[in-house]
Amino acid sequence: MNRGKNLQKLREETFDICVIGAGATGAGVALDAALRGFRVALIEKEDFASETSSKSTKLIHGGVRYLEQAFKNLDFGQLKQVRHGLAERHFVLSNAPHLARPLGIITPVFSWFEGLYFSIGLVMYGWFAKNDTLPKARWLSKKETLDRIKNMSSRIHSGVLYYDGQLDDARYCLALVQSADKAGAAVANYTEVLGFEKEASGQLTAVKVRERNSGDVFSIKSRLFINCTGVFSDKIRLMANPQEVPRIRPSKGVHIILKKEYLNGSEAILIPKTKDGRVVFVIPFEGIVMVGTTDTPDNRTDAEPVLESAEVDYLLETISPFLNKVPAKSEVQAGFGGLRPLLAANRKDTKSLLRDHEIEHDHASNLLSVLGGKWTTFRLMAQDAVDEACRILETERTCKTPDHKLHGADKAGDGQSELEELTTKSGISEESVIHLKSKYGDQAGAVLALCEDNTGLAALIHKDYPYIKAEALYAARYEMAVTLRDFFARRIRFELTDWQATIDSVETVALIMAGELLWDESFTKNQIEDYRKQLGNFISEAS
Ligand SMILES: Cc1cc2nc3c(=O)[nH]c(=O)nc-3n(C[C@H](O)[C@H](O)[C@H](O)COP(=O)(O)OP(=O)(O)OC[C@H]3O[C@@H](n4cnc5c(N)ncnc54)[C@H](O)[C@@H]3O)c2cc1C
Repeated sequence: MNRGKNLQKLREETFDICVIGAGATGAGVALDAALRGFRVALIEKEDFASETSSKSTKLIHGGVRYLEQAFKNLDFGQLKQVRHGLAERHFVLSNAPHLARPLGIITPVFSWFEGLYFSIGLVMYGWFAKNDTLPKARWLSKKETLDRIKNMSSRIHSGVLYYDGQLDDARYCLALVQSADKAGAAVANYTEVLGFEKEASGQLTAVKVRERNSGDVFSIKSRLFINCTGVFSDKIRLMANPQEVPRIRPSKGVHIILKKEYLNGSEAILIPKTKDGRVVFVIPFEGIVMVGTTDTPDNRTDAEPVLESAEVDYLLETISPFLNKVPAKSEVQAGFGGLRPLLAANRKDTKSLLRDHEIEHDHASNLLSVLGGKWTTFRLMAQDAVDEACRILETERTCKTPDHKLHGADKAGDGQSELEELTTKSGISEESVIHLKSKYGDQAGAVLALCEDNTGLAALIHKDYPYIKAEALYAARYEMAVTLRDFFARRIRFELTDWQATIDSVETVALIMAGELLWDESFTKNQIEDYRKQLGNFISEAS
C-alpha cells in the first residue's frame, strides 16, 4: 500500500463510494464495493482497526449465549442471529486461514445434570452450522478435561467441548484493507472527516477531511458516502443531517492478559454464568492467556476505554473458582478495553440488546450508515450495505466476497517445505517463522527477504517473544504503519501481550521506523517518550 499515492488519488478523483471508518465494517464495505467494480475511497481518522475492531474477544461465533436466550425466550430473532453468525464463521475462517483458526472451547460443569444441559445446547449449536468442517461438540470426562486444560480446577465434574473460530482481529482488518487497496480502492489512515459539503437540498457532495500528519485539509468528492464509524456513527449522522436522532449506545468491555501457565492448554474455557449473568472466556492467544469480557454502558467515546483496576478485580474474582493455580493482580501483564457499537433499543440492559446490524439510508442527506453488528458478521454487513448502495446508485452488481481470499491467503504455497526453506535461509528460530507464517501468510517470505540485505533485521525485538526487527521495517514500508503504536498494538500484538516488554522494546523499533519514515531526532525522541508514557499510564490505571 502506498499512502502518498493514495492521498493524491483522494484529492484528485471523484469516487462512486467513499467509506468513512476503517474498522471491520468499513474495511469490509470497501473491499466488497471495490470487488464489484466501484471507484472506492476508504478513510480512517486514526489507524486501521484502532478502535473497537482491535479490542474484541477475537471469537468468530454464532453466540452460544444467544442460542440459549432464543430457546428460553422463544425469540426467533436471536435464533436468526445465531444462524447468520455460524454461516459467516465459515467465510471468515476460509478466506484468511493464516489469520483465523478453529478454537476448541471447554465449558466446565459441576454436576451430571449441568453436563447434560450444556451437551444438548452445544450439540444443537453445531447443528445450526451448515457447510463447515469444525468438529462437533462432545461431553468430556473429568480426566480428559483436566488433561486438556491443566490449570482447570479439579473440583469440576466434567467438561463439554465445542468449537468456534478465533482471529487476530487487527491483522484481519489490515488484510481487508490491503485486499481493498489491491482491488483498486484509495485507502488512507490518519485522514479524519471534519464535515460534509452539501447541495442546497441537503444532499452530500463531498467530505472535508484533515490529513493528520501534515494537518492539510482537503475535500473528497463522491456520489455516495457510507458511514462505518462504529461507536462514532451518531457524530457522522449528525454532521450529515442535524435532525437525526442518536442510535448508538456504547458498552465497554475489557480483557486482562496473563501468562500461559494460567490456562496450560491449547483450548479455551467458557465460564457460562458470572454473578451478573454474563459469560467470560479464558482464551489462549499469541502465547498468552486472554480473559474477558465485561459489559458496562459507557458513553465516553472521546477518551480511550482503558482497563481499570476494579475491572481487573472483577475478572480475577470471576475466573478464580475455575482454576487450580490462581493469578495475583500483580501478575496481570497487559489488558485492553473497547466499546461495543450497540444499537439503541427500548430495553435498559445492554446485555439484552441484539448484536444485530442495520443499514440506514437518510434520504435527506443520502448518507448510508452501517450500524451495530459484530466482527463475525462484517462480511454480511458489507454485502447488505453495498447491495443498498447499488440500489441508490441504480446499478446491479453481484457480491464477490463469499469466496474472495484475502491478502496473504491468495497465493497457493506449500506450507511445510516453504517453512523449512525460510528457516534455513534466514537463520531465525522456528518459533519466529511459525509466527511470521501465521501473521503474514504467503507474504512471510517478503518479510524475511528484508533480512537478506541487512542480516541484523533477523534479530528478535525482545528476547522472550518471536517478533523480529524486519517486521517493523515491513510495517512502515508496506503496511502503512505511521506511529510506534500502530506497529506494537496492531501490526504485531505486542502491546496486548506484555506492557513492560513493550516499553523495553520501544527504542529498538523507533530507530528502524525512523530510518524508513525519515523521522528526525527530536520527533523520534518525542514518539518514544509519548508512547512509553502512555504504556505507563495503562499500567497505573490497571493496578
Ligand atoms: C470487548 C468487546 C469484545 C468483542 N468481542 C467480539 C467477538 O469476540 N466476536 C465478534 O464477532 N465481535 C466482537 N465484538 C464486536 C466487534 O468488535 C465490533 O462489532 C466491531 O469491531 C465493530 O467494528 P466497526 O468497524 O463497526 O467499528 P470500529 O472498529 O470502531 O471502527 C470504526 C472506525 O471509524 C473511525 N472513525 C470514527 N470517526 C471518524 C471520522 N470522523 N473520520 C474517519 N474515521 C472515523 C474510527 O477511528 C474507527 O477506526 C466485541 C466488541 C467489544 C467491545
